[in-house]
Amino acid sequence: MKRPFGQHFLFDPNILKKIISCSGISKDDTVVEIGPGLGTLTKFLSLHAKKVLAIEIDKKLIGRLQEILSMHDNVEVIQADALKFPFNDIQGNFKVVANIPYNITTPLLFRLLEFREKMPSITLLMQKEVAKRITASHTDKEYGVLSISTQLYTKPSLKFTVSRKAFLPPPDVDSAVVHFEVNPSPFINVKDEEFFLKVVKTAFSQRRKTLTNSLKTFDSIKDALLKAGIDPGLRAENLSIKDYVRLTGALKQ
Ligand code: SAM
Repeated sequence: MKRPFGQHFLFDPNILKKIISCSGISKDDTVVEIGPGLGTLTKFLSLHAKKVLAIEIDKKLIGRLQEILSMHDNVEVIQADALKFPFNDIQGNFKVVANIPYNITTPLLFRLLEFREKMPSITLLMQKEVAKRITASHTDKEYGVLSISTQLYTKPSLKFTVSRKAFLPPPDVDSAVVHFEVNPSPFINVKDEEFFLKVVKTAFSQRRKTLTNSLKTFDSIKDALLKAGIDPGLRAENLSIKDYVRLTGALKQ
């Protein structure tokens, strides 16, 4: 059966409690939940947060969800697409906690990071493979553009994994909870973020080639690599974020 909104619901109270615990939310926090579904996580969030904004795209679920949450006065159910939602309109800072539809993980994460000044943390249940790519360091085989582009703005940590059997209906993949500490500006000082990401994406688009070859479209790449103290025979996956920062600095000189 086709599930355009990635609807796999979570009912196990132990898993829901663990998500709350690693989200670090308190009664001082406004929490945004994306995709509340049938409100199982929402109820726990309501008990631990000051206010919960639950953004659900599926019009067919809204009536039921409002009924399920009717006793929870601090929850506001909003029917909207989280990928288009104007998060800037939310008063004050907010934390995001959600079991999200896996097919929109990457666009949703980048959409959320556009509002990083207002968001001290994000806690998401996502596909385990994606969680591993996000949290990988340059010594891991999963390391790539997603690791670098998220770690530029956040410190992500994989908190625990969740079996597919915990969901109704079960998805085809296992899941993991990732907690992101968000920094309003990059953890490492990058002068031109757009250029930095261009270099990273180009390097990984041909990850089997040496950097001299994969980055040959950039003028004087060999000189820049040497200036940055990087062996030109290395490949994209061998460089840490700091190495990429030095390399883009050298390319810009
Ligand atoms: N949080 C619930 C739970 O844990 O049982 C449901 C999780 S289910 C994996 C994902 C939910 O996100 C569904 O309720 C789905 O309708 C909703 N959803 C899908 N795309 C969305 C979008 N773009 N914006 C907001 N909600 C969305």
